[in-house]
Amino acid sequence: MTAMYKDRTVFDRFRASPYNRAFMPDRLPEFIEPLRLAERGRVLQGRLPLSRFRRLAESLVTADGHAQVVLEFGMDEQGRPTVEGDVATELMLRCQRCLEPMALSLDLPVRLVLVRSEAQEQNLPTGFEAMVVGEKPSLLADIIEDELLLGLPLVPMHAPKECRRGRHYEVDAGEGADESHSPFEVLAKLKQDRTR
Ligand SMILES: [Zn+2]
Repeated sequence: MTAMYKDRTVFDRFRASPYNRAFMPDRLPEFIEPLRLAERGRVLQGRLPLSRFRRLAESLVTADGHAQVVLEFGMDEQGRPTVEGDVATELMLRCQRCLEPMALSLDLPVRLVLVRSEAQEQNLPTGFEAMVVGEKPSLLADIIEDELLLGLPLVPMHAPKECRRGRHYEVDAGEGADESHSPFEVLAKLKQDRTR
C-alpha cells in the first residue's frame, strides 16, 4: 500500500496486457455508464485533481495533487461485467500522533463486479467487491473517491522513527524508565497531598 507510485509501471502493466484495447489517454469523462463500458471493453486512463474529492478533503492537509486512474472495463469468463485497474496518488494526511503532515503514497488495486442490485452481491470472485450500478450514469469521481476512502489508514501515523512524538516515546520508555510517573501514581500523590 505504501509502495511508491510510478506512472510508468501502471501504464506498462496495462499495455502489456493481452487485451490491446482502445485507450483514452489522459482524458476522463465526468460521467460514465459502467455497464456499457464493460460491454465494449473500454479502458479509461487519466488523472483527477484531488480537489474534486469533497469527502476525502476532511482527511487531507492539502488537496494539491492528482489521482492517477486506470480502469479496464470488461466481462469475466462467467459473463459478469467487471472493472479492474489502479488508483494511485500521494496524499498529505495529518499524523494522529504528532499532528504534523505526513505524505502517504497509495497504489490501490480496483477489482469490481458491476451488479444491478444488492441481491446480486453474492458469489463474487475472490478479491472482487460489488458495485451497484443503476440506470443513471455514474459520476466517475465518486467511484474513485470511494476507492481512495477505502484505502486510507484508519489512524494515519508516521513510522515511529519519522514521528516527532514517536521519538519522544522511545526516549521516555528507555532512559526515564526508573523514574516513571504514570498518571495513576500522580493521581495517588495528589490524593495523599489533599488528605494531609
Ligand atoms: Zn507523527
